[in-house]
Amino acid sequence: MFVDSHCHLSSPELAGRIPEIRAAMRQASVDRALCICTTLDEFDLVHRLALENDGFWCSAGVHPDEEDSREPTVEGLVALSRLDKVLAIGETGLDYYRLAGRDLAEMEWQRERFRVHIRAARASGRPLVIHTRSASADTLRLIREEEGGDAGGVFHCFTETADVARAALDLGFHISFSGILTFKNASDLREVAAFVPLDRCLIETDSPYLAPVPFRGKVNTPANVPLVARQLAEIKSLTVQEIASVTAHNFERLFLGNVPRS
Ligand SMILES: [Zn+2]
Ligand SMILES: [Zn+2]
Repeated sequence: MFVDSHCHLSSPELAGRIPEIRAAMRQASVDRALCICTTLDEFDLVHRLALENDGFWCSAGVHPDEEDSREPTVEGLVALSRLDKVLAIGETGLDYYRLAGRDLAEMEWQRERFRVHIRAARASGRPLVIHTRSASADTLRLIREEEGGDAGGVFHCFTETADVARAALDLGFHISFSGILTFKNASDLREVAAFVPLDRCLIETDSPYLAPVPFRGKVNTPANVPLVARQLAEIKSLTVQEIASVTAHNFERLFLGNVPRS
């Protein structure tokens, strides 16, 4: 059975299709998924998905791209993390891809928000779900400054270099690969995946985005995560069943290690 470690099932494209998505997941042997929160206003929706569906869990956090969103506090995130079926803090991190003409000094709000998440993860003992785009040096620097390695977590939808992967691994983090791994032009990323130790690998869809080949460009769902596993299996010269089992085990160890199973 496969686990999708990162999906956005509360997104408008998917929220109304949950029974159909769950049926497709069953068909594809995907039995578990972590539903990712991107704003505090969205939290109730992702939390309800987790509470109402076996095998679904959720996170609590505010995405770095959600500039005008309500700001979280350390105490507020810790309180959410204590609720049933909340496994992680995030997604959080830094995204300098859309600076819209600003310089990096003007992105201090993003760095401050990321620090709040790292402090909440340390205080709650929950792992971090980290998003980093065009900002890997600052992402790693803030994790070091805030001692985020104590909380651990995952660099999700990894698209960075082997050097960034090595730094994240040295800090104790896992690396999650998405459908991007299957894209024709992603040979550099496949080399990074070859290098990441198997016991630190996770797989995800990042649904509704980034559908793997042959569904590239279509609306993605967790039922497609075996296609990511298949690509990783090819890279690691293992069977897809072996990838399913080890990534499921990694997910359990990282996210469910100190949480009562439900
Ligand atoms: Zn992300
Ligand atoms: Zn995401």
